[in-house]
Amino acid sequence: MGQPWGTLRTLAQDREKWRDFVAALVAHGKKGINSEANARRVHNVEQCFGSSGQPLGIPGRVLVGEGVLTKVCRKRAKPRQFFLFNDALVYGNIILHKKKYNKQQILPLGDVKLENVNDDGNLRNGWKIINPKKSFVVYAATATEKKEWMAHIRKCVDDLLLQRGITKSCSADSPVWVPDNEAKNCMHCSKSEFSMHHCRSCGIVACNSCTSKRWLLPEQSPKPIRVCLTCYQKLSSQASQNHVTRKYSVNKTGDDRQASSGDDSSDDEDEGAPARQNGSNTEAEELAIHDAHFQSYD
Ligand SMILES: [Zn+2]
Ligand SMILES: [Zn+2]
Repeated sequence: MGQPWGTLRTLAQDREKWRDFVAALVAHGKKGINSEANARRVHNVEQCFGSSGQPLGIPGRVLVGEGVLTKVCRKRAKPRQFFLFNDALVYGNIILHKKKYNKQQILPLGDVKLENVNDDGNLRNGWKIINPKKSFVVYAATATEKKEWMAHIRKCVDDLLLQRGITKSCSADSPVWVPDNEAKNCMHCSKSEFSMHHCRSCGIVACNSCTSKRWLLPEQSPKPIRVCLTCYQKLSSQASQNHVTRKYSVNKTGDDRQASSGDDSSDDEDEGAPARQNGSNTEAEELAIHDAHFQSYD
């Protein structure tokens, strides 16, 4: 669709100035750190999130690129605006493209890993963004954009880790959640009528009784969270091998409702949908947002 990667939009409708800036900027933030243009861009992102976001202008932070990616959420895939900084990946819901975003999420890049997702029918140009807090799949509009995004993210991660003198993150990764509509049956016991819950350890969709156990996964939550019986066993045996006891289980009755209303609804994606969303064909429409392609600043 539309523009190929490489048709870079100018920053202030002024290609020449922008080219000068690019020429002066050393890859991913050496001279860029102090650049006024960078400060302005970071400030602009901050403004777009308004009070719903955190301050983003921290010393040394450089905005490397931005664009719209389709993010797979619990119910369906939705467009999200992504900002790649040299130290973090920030994304949010699009209220008004290039003007207003909310539901800001910040993933520190030191914890981020990427994994390719093969094309499958209409689902193309995707990859996993794996991190300790909440892993997920995103799709770019074109194969070229996918390549650019992945290369830029990887470069930022590598630079960051190099800078910190570590080779990889040691935090436990969170699973990519299986979307609700991909699980007609409980993925643990195959029961067909069930209320859906996600295992926080492996991401499957399962029924109440198959997810009645809780386990402490500190990267995701300070409280013990829902895991499936398979993961519970796995985690228990790992823990006993490591002489760790951090088992948690809950009574099957009574606690489920409370637990599920708290944790399953904590998914950031399903509320605050973009304003333009109204019909059945919204995904295609939303993807066609003009100028939504990956734009790199280096
Ligand atoms: Zn089940
Ligand atoms: Zn599991």
